[in-house]
Amino acid sequence: MLDTTLVPKKKRPIDWVNAAFITLTPVVAVVGTSLYVARHGVTWLELANFLAMFLLTGISITAGYHRYYAHRTYDCNKPLRLFYLVFGAAAVENSLLNWAADHRRHHQFVDSDEDPYNILKGGLYAHMGWIFFKNPRTPQVRYKNVPDLLKDPMVRWQHRWYLPLVILATFAVPTYIGLIQGRPTGGLLWGGFLRVVVVHHMTFFINSIAHLWGTRPYSQDNTARDNWWLGPLTFGEGYHNFHHAFQADYRNGVRWYHFDMGKWWIRSFAAVGWAWRLKRAPEPAILSARLKTEMQAIQLRFEASGLPATTREKIESYLRGGKETLEAALSRYHQARIDYRRQKDRWTEETRRQWSLKLAQYKSDFYLARAHWRERVRRIHRIPQPSAQGLVTLTALLDLLKTKFPSV
Ligand SMILES: [Zn+2]
Ligand SMILES: [Zn+2]
Repeated sequence: MLDTTLVPKKKRPIDWVNAAFITLTPVVAVVGTSLYVARHGVTWLELANFLAMFLLTGISITAGYHRYYAHRTYDCNKPLRLFYLVFGAAAVENSLLNWAADHRRHHQFVDSDEDPYNILKGGLYAHMGWIFFKNPRTPQVRYKNVPDLLKDPMVRWQHRWYLPLVILATFAVPTYIGLIQGRPTGGLLWGGFLRVVVVHHMTFFINSIAHLWGTRPYSQDNTARDNWWLGPLTFGEGYHNFHHAFQADYRNGVRWYHFDMGKWWIRSFAAVGWAWRLKRAPEPAILSARLKTEMQAIQLRFEASGLPATTREKIESYLRGGKETLEAALSRYHQARIDYRRQKDRWTEETRRQWSLKLAQYKSDFYLARAHWRERVRRIHRIPQPSAQGLVTLTALLDLLKTKFPSV
């Protein structure tokens, strides 16, 4: 359901406070810090000030604003929530209430006029241009998607005191740290202005780069993309295609080797009991999403191949069989792992041993089905594109149809 209370696009007014802040802070950060360093040098405390404030505010946006408050991917205790609200404010990316309302709207209406940072309006608009305009929605409409946050007294407190919190945590604290060495201006520039600008643009990259460049292995339905090199630049938010497909998952980089500081931070607090109920998308659902996009890519290739419809149908039904075999193998292995974990403490040593063997068998069945699937997909992608007569090489097709999926 689209909102009908939008101010017509042509009348959308500029938010002069936002525009001035977003434009002037980089000038102060770059020119001011350069001049200061040229004149007074730099100390280890100024670098530490920058690094500490950078890490604390960046992780508060990723693990707090984004994954805890906007998506509710886990639960955590009050001290951690307070930390997220204070240092999230120090990132100067708006109050949590506004940030989360915009972000939930982005997920709900991605790539449409209702998406606050719609990438289809251009990379620069999605990166920072949208911030230059006043929000066109009435509060009733804007906050309709955050009823849980409106009920939270800590969130309401942060929203109400957002400006004093920004002044205190963003500028006063780093300045005070600088005073330790008698260099308050150095503290303000390094831990305040320069750090704010770096964290700003790292967050903005997710709205621009992560919707422009990269792969779409989990869903082709929107512009969100996975990008391994964006992870280290954004506290681990580089796997944005996965995130849009599974927004309730506390992870962004789903594989253990994916760089995701947010995931590691949340797990660390879970280990000491400060965070709990970490939500994960089930492995079979993740695999099904991948297989669906692989099938879509193959169908597109077939459509362009000029293959006779009967041959296409034959190959597609053969592939569907392989896909179902692979999905069934993972579901069985996944369920067996859950059952084993839940019940192993009640079992005898012998039952546990038998289950371990069964699990090993299921795991190997899954790996085998996956290897066969990958091989078939590889062969299909090796089939040459249509010749002048619009036919593909027959031997490649015969080769493909000759092999069978293992039954597991
Ligand atoms: Zn999100
Ligand atoms: Zn997005």
